[in-house]
Amino acid sequence: MSDNDKIKVTIIPTGTMHADLTWLLIDPSRMASQAQPSKQRDWVPVPTHVVYLEHPNGQKLMWDAGVPRDWEDRWGPTGLDQFFPVDTVPEEEWLDSRLKQLKLEPNDIDYLVLSHLHMDHAANAKFWQSAGTRILVDEREKEGAFSFDGYNKGAHIKSDYDGLELDTVRGDTELLPGVTLLSTPGHTWGTMSLQVDLADSGTMIFASDALYRKESYGPPAIGAGIVYDSVAWLESAEKIRGIQERTNAQVIYGHDPEQITQLRTGPGNYYT
Ligand SMILES: [Zn+2]
Repeated sequence: MSDNDKIKVTIIPTGTMHADLTWLLIDPSRMASQAQPSKQRDWVPVPTHVVYLEHPNGQKLMWDAGVPRDWEDRWGPTGLDQFFPVDTVPEEEWLDSRLKQLKLEPNDIDYLVLSHLHMDHAANAKFWQSAGTRILVDEREKEGAFSFDGYNKGAHIKSDYDGLELDTVRGDTELLPGVTLLSTPGHTWGTMSLQVDLADSGTMIFASDALYRKESYGPPAIGAGIVYDSVAWLESAEKIRGIQERTNAQVIYGHDPEQITQLRTGPGNYYT
């Protein structure tokens, strides 16, 4: 069996933000206490990535769409530019550079699957506006993302996705043989994770913001500052754990600065 008969998965770093860790992890060891009344702050790197998947049936899938070059303009009106500056992006990591490195035009991609519609995941979705690519989100995410008036609601910026033809999925959905979208809400209305069953590397679960970092997953799972529904979030973390234990999967967190350095990443470095 040659690599071309197998699913190939390439994890592609697409730039790093910085943020106070409190957004991502409610960790008692970092909270003020009587003995330590001045709160310790942690300004941490928050890397982003997309996943490029080539299926042996010839179809190509992109998971998420990274952060935008013009983040200061687009995020400024939300105030979140101050909390999540995209201040560490080498030229070669912006998504448009990555597509060139992969020798891809947007219309080469059959499916763009957005784990959710936050500004650091969906910002470049409009690269695919007229590409004929099927753009997929969870139906609850789409409903929520259009449920407010004005420029943004938290990290949902309507202009990132307004005007795109968004197809929806509901619940766990096997999109292609060996490629399953998992319903893992809580972080947002309809956050999804991506399960890929690989011939050589076994199962990989790309958790996106269902799990930001290793500490989020635990056990025990540790909640976070940005969570739409904390109970659903915890249930999703445990759902992922159930699948992980059953399939012996590797879980890839959405924004873990340690883990990303331990993975095979970048064009040409793929998992099969
Ligand atoms: Zn998010």
